[in-house]
Amino acid sequence: MSKVTLERTLEHTFERIGKLVNERLSKLLFNRFEQGYRTTKYPDHLIHIPSPYRGRPEINFECDYSIMNLCAQNCPQQALLISEERKGMDLGKCVFCGECERLSEEKFIHFTTDFSLATARHEELFLCDENPLPKIEKEINEKIRKLFGRSLQLRQVSAGGCNACEQDINVLNTPFFDLSRLGIQIVASPRHADGIMVTGPVTKNMQQALMKTYKAIPDPKIVIAVGSCAISGGPFYQSSEVVAGVENILPVDLFIPGCPPHPLTTLKALIDYFKVTL
Ligand code: SF4
Repeated sequence: MSKVTLERTLEHTFERIGKLVNERLSKLLFNRFEQGYRTTKYPDHLIHIPSPYRGRPEINFECDYSIMNLCAQNCPQQALLISEERKGMDLGKCVFCGECERLSEEKFIHFTTDFSLATARHEELFLCDENPLPKIEKEINEKIRKLFGRSLQLRQVSAGGCNACEQDINVLNTPFFDLSRLGIQIVASPRHADGIMVTGPVTKNMQQALMKTYKAIPDPKIVIAVGSCAISGGPFYQSSEVVAGVENILPVDLFIPGCPPHPLTTLKALIDYFKVTL
């Protein structure tokens, strides 16, 4: 092939490739413009979750004792404590199955669509007359907020989880929530992380891996227990094969209840606890 023919062939090929790229690119751009901006403006714009969702429970301790007792006896998690001395619901144990709401015909417990459920103190997960709402105290962990309020890298460890909590954490990385716009990222290595998000009841098989991951994170570090399994063992709380809650082996800074917690519950918890600045 002569030099001239080769040059023409190359010119022709590049022309075709250019056309193809242009066509594809314009299609891509058109698609992008057609889709518009999909990322939520939360927390500036509030989001309402529709009603089949079970969020913060409203509990009526004035309800008939026999109804409360019936619910407590039928709770698969033993999350309801009903006695003459003390009445309450352990949000850390609850799997939000709705059985108590159904049995009491909403007279005792009614689940609202409020997704604000997290707290930094385990004892606040016990909802009773004196503590009707889990909340994140403003004054605690000011040092942590100063350190991580603008940039937070987290390593996620599934310590025997069923993948529900893990998937709902993944959802935070989709274009709708776009977690990275808040300066929060899920990273692949504990060496790059400021803390861990633990899901699952911490099976004995995963205990060593979890401890190794924790140790690999440089100080100061934080631990977040996501979901009722990580907080209390969830449906596996009686199994001898789990440690039934991260708190039994590591100091937990933030508890995010749910089964699994809604992505908005986790997002709100992270914003509130770390006082993320936009
Ligand atoms: S919703 Fe929670 S408290 Fe009610 S029965 Fe189910 S696990 Fe128990």
